Amino acid sequence: MRLLFRHLDALVVEAGRPPLRDAWLAEDGQGRVAAAGTGTPPPGLDGGRDGRGLLAVPGLVNAHHHLYQTAARGRATGQGLFAWLTALYPRWGRLRPATIHAAAVVALAELVRSGATATVDHHYLYPPGAGAAAVAEALFGAADQVGIRLMLARGAITCGRSGGCLPPDELVEPPDAVWTDIRDLAARYHQRGAAAQTRVAVAPVSIMSTDAAVMRDAAELARVLNLPLHTHAGETRDEERYARQRYGAHPFDLLEEWGWLRPGTWLAHGVWIPVRFRPRLARAGVGVAHCPSSNLRLGSGVAPVRAYLQAGIPVGLGVDGSASNDGGHLWGEARLALLLSGVRGRPPLAPAEALALATRGSARCLGWEGLGRLEPGDAADVAVYRLDDLEHAGMAAGDPLAAWALGWPTRAWTVLVGGRAVVEEGRLVTVEVEAAAAELRRRMQAEEAGG
Ligand SMILES: [Zn+2]
Repeated sequence: MRLLFRHLDALVVEAGRPPLRDAWLAEDGQGRVAAAGTGTPPPGLDGGRDGRGLLAVPGLVNAHHHLYQTAARGRATGQGLFAWLTALYPRWGRLRPATIHAAAVVALAELVRSGATATVDHHYLYPPGAGAAAVAEALFGAADQVGIRLMLARGAITCGRSGGCLPPDELVEPPDAVWTDIRDLAARYHQRGAAAQTRVAVAPVSIMSTDAAVMRDAAELARVLNLPLHTHAGETRDEERYARQRYGAHPFDLLEEWGWLRPGTWLAHGVWIPVRFRPRLARAGVGVAHCPSSNLRLGSGVAPVRAYLQAGIPVGLGVDGSASNDGGHLWGEARLALLLSGVRGRPPLAPAEALALATRGSARCLGWEGLGRLEPGDAADVAVYRLDDLEHAGMAAGDPLAAWALGWPTRAWTVLVGGRAVVEEGRLVTVEVEAAAAELRRRMQAEEAGG
């Protein structure tokens, strides 16, 4: 057993439970939590970081992202989802694996500095000739470099403009190749248990980029391989109109018909989930990844998170791709989720509820046991925040979570993944951030120059 922290001002073992004060936390030497307590640590537990002035919470879990989009930030502004997608597809279609890798390193570094210790990458962009294996290696390689846990939600565009879908035809992949790739990825990267560093999910992009047969086959493959299942759903009103025109049905009726309402499924956005579907999602255990910044950036709307939680739907938190955020600050996303939850004139979420979205809520969506909580046996993934800095001066000392959720988010002070430091004293220790940013700029300039 190894002491990680002593005399933490506050330690949240699980969002919703009262924080431990003057707390210590120890790991088992295998990357899992061994014990936590208050006051002086038991004899034999020496060392550890001094936690005075600090709040420790379970590492944040990002339930939806597209890492490659970090190479397309700040573009196609002032547009809704469909126009934004249509504007960006050609640029995305030219990305090479080396640029995708550089974008992923930047995206993951940014996430970790906000306190995230695990993330999904919903990756559906396989430019012609890039090679699916090279793309997967670029993504998992970036996660390994940065030191974050990664679930690759292997997406696929299987229907293009000539088939009545949104993406250009050159980005379409044959479904059989996609299923083969997912089987290979699962065999290589899908680890189970709290110590899992990499996982894989089945994740067609959306009903606008695929067809009914593929959606059915995806659900069946996820069932057979016992993998999580993910897609975009309920993001915009345009999606509802599109589904009515193409299928004569509501998107959530289609998902039910295609076998998607089952445990292990989680949906990105869910801004527009009609009341009649909510009990069905809750009964099936289907989660929603709430992505507030992206939904505002594209004018998609605001998901009624409080109503979903009351209906029993698991709700997690995601930054979404950096082309519609245009960042990856999950702590900041929790603050925004809290503030936006009151936008319809209802009391907003409490600070502990905002933390719950970013921890247990996201872990539940992903079905990744051992994340989002710090009980013995859980992953020793910890995000630690300074609450004695300028942005948190004047906050109520007795309510560290109010300071965390309402103060202006800066950067995590310490971030541990499996007990290993990824951020120490506010500095990312695994990757040189200036070099990572410069590498992405260089790759993008080379692509723009046709190199
Ligand atoms: Zn997305």
